[in-house]
Amino acid sequence: MPEGIEKLVELFVKFPGVGPRQARRFVYYLLNQRPQFIDLLIARLNAVRSEINQCKECYRFFPNKVDAVVCEVCRDQNLGHDTLIIVEKDVDFDALRKANLIQGRYFILGGLIPILEKNPERLVKINPLLEKVENFSTKGLQEVIFALSANPQGDHTVEILSEKLSPLRQKHDFKISTLGRGLSTGTELEYSDLDTLKSALENRK
Ligand SMILES: [Zn+2]
Repeated sequence: MPEGIEKLVELFVKFPGVGPRQARRFVYYLLNQRPQFIDLLIARLNAVRSEINQCKECYRFFPNKVDAVVCEVCRDQNLGHDTLIIVEKDVDFDALRKANLIQGRYFILGGLIPILEKNPERLVKINPLLEKVENFSTKGLQEVIFALSANPQGDHTVEILSEKLSPLRQKHDFKISTLGRGLSTGTELEYSDLDTLKSALENRK
């Protein structure tokens, strides 16, 4: 394979769920497109980079219309600090916000921790989460809800993070809960329908 192609394949392989074979298909697809398509792709990528910011509080990506470093949800004074909902990724945040079943502030982990992972800090924002919980604890935090996918990685992530949060919980006495198994095993949160989310939240423990 020509070196230029190989280098591009190496980039696509980094995408979630993309293997080498699929990455090569993407590259050849791009090579077959007209130059305008490539220009458009580059322009759109640049636009996203300049128009979207990552919130300094919850780590979600949000449209940067007012040059803000904190998103509109974290700026909302009415939300209080009693409930912190921890999700894996932005689409999960979107699903829960859209369902509008629970009021609270959010934290986006950025990933899940695989069972044999030796260096979980590499994949999820552990220290920023601890700082957040510590900060909320001084403002009346009542409950930390893990709203993660119902799969072994999700369970393992809850286990590791609950352990990390345990000293803070003992000191500040808040509740740690996880979604009930209305979310059937193997279900990714983002694909859950409204009724399933509702029952998972109501049956949290
Ligand atoms: Zn935010």
